[in-house]
Amino acid sequence: MNTRLPGWALSENRKAITFRDKKGIGTLKLKGTYDLNHYNIKQIKRVRLVRRADGYYAQFAVDVDIKVETQPTLQVVGIDLGLKYFIADSKGSVEPSPQFYRKSEKQLNRANRKKSKKFSPARKKAKTRQSSNYHKARVRYARKHLRVSRQRKEYCKRVAHSVIQSNDLVAYEDLNVKNMVKNRHLAKSISDAGWSTFRQWLEYFGHKYGKVTVAVPPHNTSHNCSNCGEKVKKSLSTRTHVCPHCNYVADRDLNASINILRLGLTTVGHTGSYAWGDLPSWAVGASLLSNGESVNQEFPL
Ligand SMILES: [Zn+2]
Repeated sequence: MNTRLPGWALSENRKAITFRDKKGIGTLKLKGTYDLNHYNIKQIKRVRLVRRADGYYAQFAVDVDIKVETQPTLQVVGIDLGLKYFIADSKGSVEPSPQFYRKSEKQLNRANRKKSKKFSPARKKAKTRQSSNYHKARVRYARKHLRVSRQRKEYCKRVAHSVIQSNDLVAYEDLNVKNMVKNRHLAKSISDAGWSTFRQWLEYFGHKYGKVTVAVPPHNTSHNCSNCGEKVKKSLSTRTHVCPHCNYVADRDLNASINILRLGLTTVGHTGSYAWGDLPSWAVGASLLSNGESVNQEFPL
C-alpha cells in the first residue's frame, strides 16, 4: 500500500519527518543507516509511506546524479541467463543458481497452509472480520515472503554489480520473463532466479558506472553456432553444442553467450531498450525505516 503525501518537513538533524497533512500522522522518527544529510533538501522529490509485512517505511525518491567515473576494463561480455546456472558468460565462467528460494519454499508452503486452515469462508460470507489467528498466520506468511524477496534482491544486486565492474559492455537477452514463467517446466527456476530483478540492477549499475548494457533479441542464440553461424537445432536437455558444419564443440551456455555478445556488439547504437524514467523508485531513492507503531495507530492504510 503506497500513499502519496503532500506537505512534509524534515527535522534539523534529518532523523525525523513531520507530515503536515490532515491525516494526523505527525512526526515520525527515521531509523536505519541511510543519512539524508548527504542531500540538498531540494533533491528529495517525493516521500511515500510504504507498508511492508514487517512494518512501515518512509521512501524518499532522491534526484541525484549517480554517475561514477571508472577506468575502462577493456573487457566485454555476453551473458546467458540459464536454468542450469543463474548466468553463464562468454568468458566461460558461470554463476550457480541461488538456492535460497527452494530452501525456504517448504517453510513458505507450511506457512501458507496454516494461513488457509485458519481462513473461515463462513466469516467471509457473513462479511465479518477473519479471526485474529488467521491474521497472525497471514502476517507470518507475508514476512517470510518478504525475507525471500529481499534475499533475491541482494543476490541479484551483488551479481549485477560484479558483472558491471569487470566489463565495459554487457550483452544479454531481451527475455520476456512473464511469458516464460507461464511455461510450467521453466516457471520455478526462472522466478526463482529473479532474472528481471537482475536485469534492472544490471541496467542501473550500467548507467551509474557509464557502462554499455545491450539487450539483444533472443532468437536462436542457443542454436546458432558461435563459430560458423550455421543453425544447429538442439533440445533444452542438450547441454553441449556440437557443430556438424565446422566441428566446433562448446558448452551450450558458452556458445549462446558468445552469440549474445556478438549480437550485442553489432546492435550497439541501434538498440535502446532502456528507458531511464522506468527505473523503480527503490533504485533511485533510499528507504528509511520509520517508527512503525505510531503510524500504525494513526494512519490506517
Ligand atoms: Zn559451426
